[in-house]
Amino acid sequence: MLEVKDLDAGYGALRVLHSVSLNVAAGEVVAVVGSNGAGKTTLLRAVNGIVAPTAGGVEIDGHDVTGKPTEKMAKFGMTHVPENRLCFPSLTVKDNLDLGGWSRRGKLDLDPVLELFPRLKPRLQQVCGTLSGGEQQMVSIGRGLMADPKVILLDEPSVGLAPKVVSEIMTVMTRLAERGLAVLLVEQNVRASFKIADRAVVMQRGRVVLEGKPSELVERPEVRAAYLGGA
Ligand code: ATP
Repeated sequence: MLEVKDLDAGYGALRVLHSVSLNVAAGEVVAVVGSNGAGKTTLLRAVNGIVAPTAGGVEIDGHDVTGKPTEKMAKFGMTHVPENRLCFPSLTVKDNLDLGGWSRRGKLDLDPVLELFPRLKPRLQQVCGTLSGGEQQMVSIGRGLMADPKVILLDEPSVGLAPKVVSEIMTVMTRLAERGLAVLLVEQNVRASFKIADRAVVMQRGRVVLEGKPSELVERPEVRAAYLGGA
């Protein structure tokens, strides 16, 4: 579904990504992990065209979408849930969610989002700024889903959330894959993401250095030492 090939990208003269390749099939969760500054956020931005790739390509379902503007990406079925929860604080939950449906052809449908996040149902008329951090994250993901995407990119959805909410969010990743989405998940929380990911990619200094099933990667001493506290 999503195919990233030999992608290079950066900011001005700073080259951050070096020939990054990965793919995510429909129904699959792929986690991208790596230390601070490894280039994970830049990878999602380059895949979504927010940062223009300088080489390589991105395909959705065989269509070349490399460097296309966000609205084109949305039309091809890609949605990006950025790092800092996008929740317009003075708008209601419903208005925040509706905003996510701008690129959708058909009628707006809140039901698939409310089915994933039942906690939002009684809060549809509450303004987003008064929600808990976890609920704001649910709105942020829910807004991405309103576009009815085929591919969803998520940048650290668990950051700053209590362990119980982190596991709720991770369960949602699995449910999205069950609905047939291709899920590309950037996470600092390696343990939580490895529990639900089908495959994981380890990035270091803008390169993919390891890739495999989480169950295989956790056996690697370098992965344990760097990301699992040596446990
Ligand atoms: P973190 O986990 O800390 O968010 P990351 O793996 O997501 O890190 P990036 O945010 O992609 O890493 O950053 C990769 C490199 O690109 C860093 O050296 C960072 O300083 C640099 N960088 C990120 N954004 C910009 C920008 N807008 N302008 C210039 N350099 C940037």
